Amino acid sequence: LPDTAAFARWIGTFAASLTEHEAHLNALDAAIGDADHGVNLRRGALVLATLVRHHDFSRPEQLLRAVGSTIVDHVGGASGPLYGSFFVRMAAALATTTGAVPLVGAMRAGVAGVAELGGAEPGDKTLYDALAPAVDALESALSAGQSPARALARAAAAAEAGRDATIAMIAKKGRASYLGERSAGHQDPGATSAALLIAAARTLIP
Ligand code: ADP
Ligand code: MG
Ligand code: MG
Repeated sequence: LPDTAAFARWIGTFAASLTEHEAHLNALDAAIGDADHGVNLRRGALVLATLVRHHDFSRPEQLLRAVGSTIVDHVGGASGPLYGSFFVRMAAALATTTGAVPLVGAMRAGVAGVAELGGAEPGDKTLYDALAPAVDALESALSAGQSPARALARAAAAAEAGRDATIAMIAKKGRASYLGERSAGHQDPGATSAALLIAAARTLIP
């Protein structure tokens, strides 16, 4: 399992990426939601950047629990509790097992937390549609004997493919679902930020 510094690097990279893509995420949300996905996440990203720069956690699960509660406290909208749950559940999965827990098990627990809280199923045009294929790709690459760096690259590619697949989907959850069939033809903002999260995870390996 990557060490605490590696997890801090992941979250710091994700936070920087969210800030960089704020306008794009807002624009995607303007098409099928209320135009605030970028601003919601950027608010959390500013606090996360400080948290990971000045933290003194010795274990990854302590850091991830703080990341989850920071997101819950500072990110508004539907996405705040969902991303918060991802990190809190990842932390719980790491804490309840002794020894080296595979990263994939922790990420799978995070994705399960998102699904339980939001009730999203595959194809509902949500962040789940980027996260779930990423974890599947990570697991199959690792069990095929690929290096962690290569497996995380495969996961990032799978998240981006999942993000792109949301364009054709009709939203079944969240604000975009109010549009019904008119939500088709637009990329889901949450799946877009989720692909940034998985891309940032490549920094877990130095
Ligand atoms: P809000 O819709 O409250 O303004 P955001 O704009 O921050 O919140 O987040 C919107 C994103 O949240 C959507 O693009 C979608 O990916 C995700 N989302 C919304 N509802 C759900 C849900 N029930 N399950 C999973 N993801 C969801
Ligand atoms: Mg919104
Ligand atoms: Mg909103």
